[in-house]
Amino acid sequence: MSSTTTRADAPIAVLGAGVAGAAAAARLMEAGLPVQVFDKGRGPGGRCSTRRSETAGEPGFDHGAQYFTARGPRLRARCAEWSASGSVQSWRGPFLRRSAGGWQEEQPSTTRWVGVPGMNQLPRLLLASAPTRFEARIVALLPDGRLELASGEVLGPFRLILLTLPPSQAAALVEDSPALATAAANVAMVPCVTWMVRLAETAPIEASAFRDATDEVGWIAREASKPGRDGSSGWVVQMSPAASTRWLEADEATWRARMEPALAEVLGRAPIATHSAFHRWRFAQRGDAAGSSPPNAASPEVLDLDRGWGLGGDWLRGGRIEAAFDSGEALAERAIAALG
Ligand SMILES: Cc1cc2nc3c(=O)[nH]c(=O)nc-3n(C[C@H](O)[C@H](O)[C@H](O)COP(=O)(O)OP(=O)(O)OC[C@H]3O[C@@H](n4cnc5c(N)ncnc54)[C@H](O)[C@@H]3O)c2cc1C
Repeated sequence: MSSTTTRADAPIAVLGAGVAGAAAAARLMEAGLPVQVFDKGRGPGGRCSTRRSETAGEPGFDHGAQYFTARGPRLRARCAEWSASGSVQSWRGPFLRRSAGGWQEEQPSTTRWVGVPGMNQLPRLLLASAPTRFEARIVALLPDGRLELASGEVLGPFRLILLTLPPSQAAALVEDSPALATAAANVAMVPCVTWMVRLAETAPIEASAFRDATDEVGWIAREASKPGRDGSSGWVVQMSPAASTRWLEADEATWRARMEPALAEVLGRAPIATHSAFHRWRFAQRGDAAGSSPPNAASPEVLDLDRGWGLGGDWLRGGRIEAAFDSGEALAERAIAALG
């Protein structure tokens, strides 16, 4: 962007290339507004990203979001389009949940969708042609619509700056805006310690996933059960929110020791791993809304037109993929309306 660009004809900066940022960018571009997306990560998706396989030819791991549901009209419309092309497909069970009486089969009330070949297909589809700069950590929002990267580079001006970051990361940038700072303050997020493991032998197991295997293991997924991951020997094991909080700063040996017995139980034998890796999600989901996505308000996104900053993200609508998508779209629509 040239230094003579005025704010009025400059692009809109979207911070975050997760589902919320990608949905915001897609909606702005549909309205004919130029955008520039920034993310500190190496690829799209944020908490809906796919860890690339360590072995050529093996599918990667969905190490964040496992699947998504589309209950509202906005995401349902997109899903209809994407499922027609096979980019998202339904994930079939059986899904088992441990209860006092043993393993029970869940009866999901709505389709569980996954991106194909990985969950990061969703943000990829939304970002499509949006110019996106990765490995670009924003460390400050400056006056006049400029922003500063960790590298020291200053970019802008941007017509608006829309943030779609987890609350504590957003809060660190928006202290100068009382409206945004208040919205992002004191939002508790719970962590999730995730184990990605590839097994030497395929086990003759029919179930796709196991919920609440033990007090400390909230979820175990068999990657090969998802469409487009044929032949995967990968499993994803997630610690429960309480155990993740308790063991967050522990080492990998401790994490494995807490999770391996649950995997051994569903396999019927001790797992023999050919690959093992962990990811520590510090801000996985809202602490007060795990497992549900109740909207906090009809339109909880915040726009501060004096500064030209806006705030969205899953956490403003309870959490989960659909909340992120709805929030990104709603934030973009607020921006479009404000710009007239
Ligand atoms: C382990 C786990 C399991 C989950 N399972 C499910 C599930 O099964 N179903 C479901 O619906 N939801 C699930 N969720 C929740 C779901 O992943 C999130 O609700 C959703 O992905 C959030 O999207 P977002 O765009 O709001 O935020 P994010 O995905 O967090 O995107 C924010 C982006 O901002 C970037 N960023 C942060 N700070 C900066 C900065 N300073 N500069 C530049 N970029 C920055 C980050 O790199 C990130 O890409 C799960 C989450 C986790 C972690």
